[in-house]
Amino acid sequence: MTTVWLDPNARRQIAREAARFRLVETGGPLFGFGEEERLTVVAAGGPGPKARHRPMSFVPDRGAVTEAIDFVWTEGERRYRYLGSWHTHPRGRPTPSGRDRQTAREMSEDEGVALARPLILIQSTWPTRRLVRDIDLRAHHWDRARDDLVPATLIDVRDAERDWPILELT
Ligand SMILES: [Zn+2]
Repeated sequence: MTTVWLDPNARRQIAREAARFRLVETGGPLFGFGEEERLTVVAAGGPGPKARHRPMSFVPDRGAVTEAIDFVWTEGERRYRYLGSWHTHPRGRPTPSGRDRQTAREMSEDEGVALARPLILIQSTWPTRRLVRDIDLRAHHWDRARDDLVPATLIDVRDAERDWPILELT
C-alpha cells in the first residue's frame, strides 16, 4: 500500500480552496517527490480562473496547471514533480467515482503527461459545515496491476518535521 506524506501547508491550501467552493467541485494539481509506494506532497495548487465547477464534476484550467508545473519546476529547483491532483466531493464520500477512475486511467496512459501512477486526493465538503475537516481528505493511488485507483495511507507532516522549504502556489 502506498504511503503519502502531506505537507501541512499543502493541506491548508486544499482546505482553503475547498472552503471557497462548497456547493460545487473544485481541485488542483499536486506536486512533490518520491517513487512508487512512498510519496511526499509538498504543494497543492488551486483550480485556476478558467476551471469549470459543477456539483458533480470539475474540469481544471489546463493553462493554470501548466503554469503551476513551470512555477514548481523553477521555484523547487527541479526537485519536485507533478504527482497528480486533488478535488472535492460536495456532500459526497471521499472515494473515487467512476469518472475519477476513468480520468486516472487516462492520465496513466497519456504519454504526454508522463504520470504512470497518478495520485488522487479527494476532499469531502459539506455546505452546512464552515470548516473543511481533515478526516474527510483521502488519498488514492493508481495501481497498474489492478488497473484501478486503490486507497493509500495519508500521513500529515507537522510543520516542525518539514525538511523542505514551503512552496506556496496560488
Ligand atoms: Zn471525484
